[in-house]
Amino acid sequence: MDTEEFRIRGKEMVDYICSYLDTIRNRRVFPGVEPGFVHGKVPDNPPIEGEPWDDIFADVENIIMPGVTHWQSPRMHAYYPALTSYPSMLAEMLTNAINCLGFTWASSPACTELEMIVTNWLGKMIGLPNEFLHNKDSNGGGVIQTTASESTLISLLSGRSVTLQRYSNLQPDVPLFEIHSKLVAYCSDQAHSSVEKAALIGLVTLRYVESDAEYSMSGSKLLEAVKEDREKGLIPFWVCTTLGTTGCCSFDDLQGIANVCQQEQLWCHVDAAYAGCSFICPEFRKWLKGVDKIDSIAFNPSKWLMVHFDCTAMCIGRYL
Ligand SMILES: *Cc1c(COP(=O)(O)O)cnc(C)c1O
Repeated sequence: MDTEEFRIRGKEMVDYICSYLDTIRNRRVFPGVEPGFVHGKVPDNPPIEGEPWDDIFADVENIIMPGVTHWQSPRMHAYYPALTSYPSMLAEMLTNAINCLGFTWASSPACTELEMIVTNWLGKMIGLPNEFLHNKDSNGGGVIQTTASESTLISLLSGRSVTLQRYSNLQPDVPLFEIHSKLVAYCSDQAHSSVEKAALIGLVTLRYVESDAEYSMSGSKLLEAVKEDREKGLIPFWVCTTLGTTGCCSFDDLQGIANVCQQEQLWCHVDAAYAGCSFICPEFRKWLKGVDKIDSIAFNPSKWLMVHFDCTAMCIGRYL
């Protein structure tokens, strides 16, 4: 495809997108297909010769669309809201053209600096303390991660590193693997499955703390579990607090949990993937009380701020 064809095909694509979104209400939200339905419709082997764009594009409507769950449909009420917007789509088009690989400042200065400024905006919008923002008085700041699941894993691995370091400074003769084998992470029984996944990848024991009648984890229940584990010779090191559980949007008692974490030297992560964006409204910030004592928080503009998937804002603050 050359520049001239891209000009034409690009405009066709914009027209297709506009019609798709304008008529999305008429499509069945959840596809009526069986697992494996794409097999046999698309060749098993990669084509030797490139196919004409018209043929490829026809496959979108004929093969792909019948198997799409239409998250943008006004009739979609499953899971949680995950809505995109036209500015978000235009931005994606431009970033694909620039194809910027922003892994360091030098690899793309504008991209790196804009990420820092916009994660500061997001942090300020939900009322995070200064330590979670990029500025000269803070060691912390925000970074865009692909998903909240990834942020949970990064947070767990960070807490693990900090704790291993601290214990090996205290007991230089004890091998790291021995300390590692005693690490325990905590979350409520309402936490997202990604917490369990992070613990599996991070090779640490995960203990579920029983939530109360409001499906909320309390500081006192957490402290009980931590004390029990310390008595067994284990090393509690990390807690995931959920603000807005995926199942029923319940909120853990952040204030109580953050106090326990501070007292017990545990890394406190807040998973606010679902409801974090709602803290833009000051009236909902009562659930954020205690945030000044946590280490990291992640929330998803891709869920409630009309930004296409994937986009998670992860802000690191105090860190142990
Ligand atoms: C949606 C959700 C997640 C997972 O989000 P991803 O960005 O898809 O990884 C994690 N935790 C909670 C509470 C969620 O609602």
